[in-house]
Amino acid sequence: MNPDRLLENLNQSQHAAVSSVAEQLAILAGPGSGKTHTLTSRTAWLLTQGLQPWNIIVATFTVKAAREMKERIGRLIGNGLESKIILGTFHSIARRYLARYGNLIGIPKGFGIADNSDSLAIIKRICKANNFNIEPKVAQSRISGKKARGGTPIEQQKNKSGAKSVELQEFERCYVEYEAVLKVSNLLDYDDLLLRCVDLLRSHPSCVSNVEAVLIDEFQDTNLVQFDLMRLFASQKKRITIVGDPDQSIYSFRAAEIKNYKTLLRQYPDTVTITLEENYRSSAAILNAALGVIEQDDSRVKKRLMATHTVGTRPVLRTLSGAHKEAEWIALEIQRCQGRTGGLMDMDDYAILLRSAQLSRLVETALGKAGIAYRMVGGLRFYDRIEIKTILDYLRVISHSGNNDALARIINTPSRRIGDGTIKSLLEEADRNKATLWSLILNSVQGKQNTTTKLQKPVEQNLSKLVNVILKAKKMVTDPSKRETLTVDVLKFVMEKIDYENWLEIHHGDVTKARWDNVQELITQATEYQTQIVYGFEDESLPMIDGLEQEEDDDPLARFLANVTLASSVKNDDVDGEPKPQVTISTIHAAKGLEWPVVFIPAAYEGSIPHSRAEDEDEERRLLYVAMTRAKALLYMSVPLQNSRCEETTLSPFLSLSSIRRLLETRGPSLGSSTVLDISRIVRRSCPTAKSIDESSSFLRSTEDDIFSEDGIDRFDSRWKLESDAGDPRRDGERAPKRQKVDL
Ligand code: ATP
Ligand code: MG
Repeated sequence: MNPDRLLENLNQSQHAAVSSVAEQLAILAGPGSGKTHTLTSRTAWLLTQGLQPWNIIVATFTVKAAREMKERIGRLIGNGLESKIILGTFHSIARRYLARYGNLIGIPKGFGIADNSDSLAIIKRICKANNFNIEPKVAQSRISGKKARGGTPIEQQKNKSGAKSVELQEFERCYVEYEAVLKVSNLLDYDDLLLRCVDLLRSHPSCVSNVEAVLIDEFQDTNLVQFDLMRLFASQKKRITIVGDPDQSIYSFRAAEIKNYKTLLRQYPDTVTITLEENYRSSAAILNAALGVIEQDDSRVKKRLMATHTVGTRPVLRTLSGAHKEAEWIALEIQRCQGRTGGLMDMDDYAILLRSAQLSRLVETALGKAGIAYRMVGGLRFYDRIEIKTILDYLRVISHSGNNDALARIINTPSRRIGDGTIKSLLEEADRNKATLWSLILNSVQGKQNTTTKLQKPVEQNLSKLVNVILKAKKMVTDPSKRETLTVDVLKFVMEKIDYENWLEIHHGDVTKARWDNVQELITQATEYQTQIVYGFEDESLPMIDGLEQEEDDDPLARFLANVTLASSVKNDDVDGEPKPQVTISTIHAAKGLEWPVVFIPAAYEGSIPHSRAEDEDEERRLLYVAMTRAKALLYMSVPLQNSRCEETTLSPFLSLSSIRRLLETRGPSLGSSTVLDISRIVRRSCPTAKSIDESSSFLRSTEDDIFSEDGIDRFDSRWKLESDAGDPRRDGERAPKRQKVDL
């Protein structure tokens, strides 16, 4: 590969960053300025400088970003070696290290991963068994927060008399018991993956003796443990490249530390910082609207960011009478765009970004009614759907029978006449005996030891059938001749044995078809993943290091499950393998780093964004900024005058008049044929196969209530003035007052 080719099509600063010989390099720049692009090119460039793929660790923020990066590096270097780069999210990289070397720090082989719902179930059980008054969800986030800051025990706060408050004592006991349950079940939660990997690399630095360069994307959202991991990965050769943007820091609730950048500069004083100032993603109108939002934060360090695209269509801010109407409008607008752009865009080009997952229901329904295919990303994961979660729970128990909560969830699904009381009592008995639920039931059905929980004869028989299914499936997992088709075979075996389709029919009558389609989708994914493992495309193995005790690779089922648990997004392909274009519905958090030609941000009202429960208003503003800067060509924001609970809403204060005025300063071509050309240019750049469009088509004529459109602004202004005229002398930039009812 010719290194010069890699450097083509980069601007000067990007060029300098990609080929920098600095040991520590920080690239700080705004959204769409090509940070990820630069990081990808730098990874490929390092390969041209004598580094081998297994010498490089690249940490990305989402699974989707990791996949895209790997594909891009593949295209740049073109020899298939990209699969050997140690590339993934921090969690997936940590899991790989623990699977290979965990034995060195006493983590037994075959550990399972407790996802957030498993953790919560464990904590709920502990709270109940001990009559704790603390709220399990709060305890979970507190425990997680502690672990994310390095796993120090719950703080030793004492009241004036020197005694700990009851609440604090409960948290501490909950923490200790939670850790004990995980240990007995050989489970690691998300935080443990990182923390234990830190332990491993501190005590056994030779595990990373092969690593010569570490590259981190979205550095602004790393927490302290991830920062430690980065340093440990780079402990042999201190070659570090980070890219980030403090304005897009949106994960403080997961203990992300904006100040990690300052810590980096302190610990590595020779760090060279490069800034990028050109935005290649969004039209100028969109970028300016977004800057109008972020610049309301006076405390931020100002950065230059200029659009390389022409002005483009002004963003739309639309009011609708209610949340249902808003969702229907989105569906209609997507259809309208499709109709008017004559094949320029497909459904993959649209994203609907939500502040919180609950907002998705109405949008899903509206898209469903309109026959628009969509995929869910982020907090709205495919894997969280009940029909998928149940079947995955079976796989998890088969792969790792220590997972008490997964077993408890499937023990009566389908019905085995085991009541909730019995399940609870069995779980408590297992906890008391410091045993797993599985060993308790196994011993009981094999007549080795009776449970103290009384089981009726038919229940025992049913449990025995369940145990047999799981034991048979476990046998399949250890059979080397089954390796090639393992995951799919086990999946199908279980579904047949428990008559899953029939169970879905009984439980979800009217929506069985959609649920069954999802199950088919899971089979497709498992098939695809299996193929990737067997043929080495998805090579997750770490290089073998001489002189270190290390484990063999996991079986394909364990790997599939770990990937599912750690995935934040899902690739939806049709059964015949042809990708099906789908609108993306995502949380804003999960949309980080990604981009779409058309973006909708519904529910732009106070209480939604900023969220009513959010503590940090600046972070909420950054969230809106992240959402707006995902859009390339068209940005739609909307506010229903009433939310789904029929409460009156108030426009988000971040979209105050000052930001709208700022937008209007960006006078450019109004909506019309020249806009069509702008959009065409922007979209086609990312989507080279798009057909040309009819220049004269009246693309996206402004809808009546588009406040950001030229004719809409007057109406908007006068509407809000209604109240200021009535004795509320509001200046620009102030929060909009509570609105009066406006007849739409
Ligand atoms: P974010 O902060 O949102 O993660 P980013 O800074 O990582 O954004 P990228 O996603 O790397 O930005 O790039 C944004 C878009 O700009 C991508 O489509 C990328 O291909 C394109 N791009 C980056 N650099 C250039 C360039 N020099 N010439 C043309 N297009 C570019
Ligand atoms: Mg990026």
